Amino acid sequence: MLKGFFNVPKAVNEPVKGYAPNSPEREAVLAAYTTMWNSQIDVPLYIGSEEIRTGNTKNITAPHNHQHVVGKYHLAEKHHIEKAITNALESRKAWANMAWEQRAAIFLKAAELIAGPYRARINAATMIGQSKNIHQAEIDASCELIDFLRYNVEFMTQIYSDQPKSDSTTWNRLEYRSLEGFVYAITPFNFTAIAANLPASAAMMGNVVVWKPSDSQVFSTKIILDVFKEAGVPDGVINVVFGDALMITDTVLASRDFAGVHFTGSTHVFKDIWAKIGANIHNYKTYPRIVGETGGKDFIIAHPSANVKQVVTGITRGAFEFQGQKCSAASRVYIPQSLWPAVKEQLITDVKSMKMGSPEDFGNFITAVIHEGSFDKLVSYIDQAKKDAEAEIIVGGNYDKSVGYFIEPTVIVTTNPKYTTMETELFGPVVTLYIYEDAKWEETLELVDTTSEYALTGAIFSQDRYAIEVATTKLQNAAGNFYINDKPTGAVVGMQPFGGARASGTNDKAGSALNLLRWASPRTIKETFVTPEDYRYPFLG
Ligand code: NAD
Repeated sequence: MLKGFFNVPKAVNEPVKGYAPNSPEREAVLAAYTTMWNSQIDVPLYIGSEEIRTGNTKNITAPHNHQHVVGKYHLAEKHHIEKAITNALESRKAWANMAWEQRAAIFLKAAELIAGPYRARINAATMIGQSKNIHQAEIDASCELIDFLRYNVEFMTQIYSDQPKSDSTTWNRLEYRSLEGFVYAITPFNFTAIAANLPASAAMMGNVVVWKPSDSQVFSTKIILDVFKEAGVPDGVINVVFGDALMITDTVLASRDFAGVHFTGSTHVFKDIWAKIGANIHNYKTYPRIVGETGGKDFIIAHPSANVKQVVTGITRGAFEFQGQKCSAASRVYIPQSLWPAVKEQLITDVKSMKMGSPEDFGNFITAVIHEGSFDKLVSYIDQAKKDAEAEIIVGGNYDKSVGYFIEPTVIVTTNPKYTTMETELFGPVVTLYIYEDAKWEETLELVDTTSEYALTGAIFSQDRYAIEVATTKLQNAAGNFYINDKPTGAVVGMQPFGGARASGTNDKAGSALNLLRWASPRTIKETFVTPEDYRYPFLG
């Protein structure tokens, strides 16, 4: 062991690059895009020191051009999952005992590799595999991921330095052990940063991990793994398996050494996992940690005092960036009657000005939705809205999946505040508006609070401080991330710790010390200097 109390570099947020015409970063990412578009990757399972190619493969394609294959990935069978668990537990012996500063150095190095040599590649992979335009790829795959890695190292040291009181007779210490077993990370398609952070945050705290990425995020997973390897994450610390989510999950949850799940994805999947953990509870060596960030039905409510341009920009950016496929995306909006004519006019003009197509063309604000299942589901809601008397599509509503899964940004206006698209998470470029009477401000806040099962993000636009105060109080439990005069998306690590309650998750706040704490099991050590040698207390005399 080295001798010293080491300080880590102060975490700073990675600046977002602009990708303006002729900038070096634009040329670099376009070159990486072209190279990756025209080559084939082959992504194995990563188990211990082995890269396993099972031969049972699926193609990796681009959502904006679903016939274009950029590689393939190999699918696991049950015995591979068991092997991944065995390898993880074997690796735990060394990893859990490694000095924290060595772990910190690995993940700080990973951050710098992404900030520098891997930036163009991880952004290009996210553009191709998840159809993000360059700005969305940059703020996710580069900046947010770098921020997660830098800040988590700082949070880890804050946790370790949080120690109990002692006096001259005893010395009390807290040791933040890793969990006794392995952590299972299950990640969604929509953020490369979340995909990397769920296994990395648990591993940083000395845990070993079995990671199952989304089938729709394999391309950027490969770059994450290249970065982790180069940064020095030892073999067996993060084991990666692809394939049948149910089989993999059931195999993992059957292990006696399962010590926690770090999940981000949809609500019903998380609830099923929770129920299975409950059913297996007698089998486990330790009570598993259950951390899950799930769905949302995120709102914007404008007060009559709101600035119209600000409200419309909150809607257009909040609802349509990355095709509305952010858990935080605005999907239900409440506008007062007095502002509606002006909001409507500008909203239609702005949405009509949005260009849609491949992310390779930097003029496109909108690209494709992630896969055919999502496309078909969105189309069914759009088609239903076209038929329903209580709904009207005021802009958008067209779609085409002949080349890629393209859905126009679509605005529905409803006369029913409980209309299905006001309540259900659609996860696409569809937003529904309800127009309320100006005098019914407080009733409308009540409506916002009670309309959906979720409580992830929400925004209020107002120039009136009393209205802001009333809304902040009435909507206290309606969102885990609440925005005043801003869109409800774009939380920044270290600035707006992210997560929601109700059906939106366990609210363990990714990008904060609260989340990291879930991956530690503290041991209290009390040491007495002069130990009693007689049971009799003075009062007995
Ligand atoms: P998803 O639930 O379809 O998939 C998430 C992961 O779970 C994937 O790896 C998938 O393969 C796996 N999975 C699917 N079915 C499973 C099963 N039966 N058992 C075990 N694992 C299973 O979600 P998605 O489409 O990838 O992502 C979109 C969802 O994620 C949305 O609901 C969104 O709101 C949510 N999300 C939430 C946050 C947050 O911080 N709250 C962030 C991002 C995404």
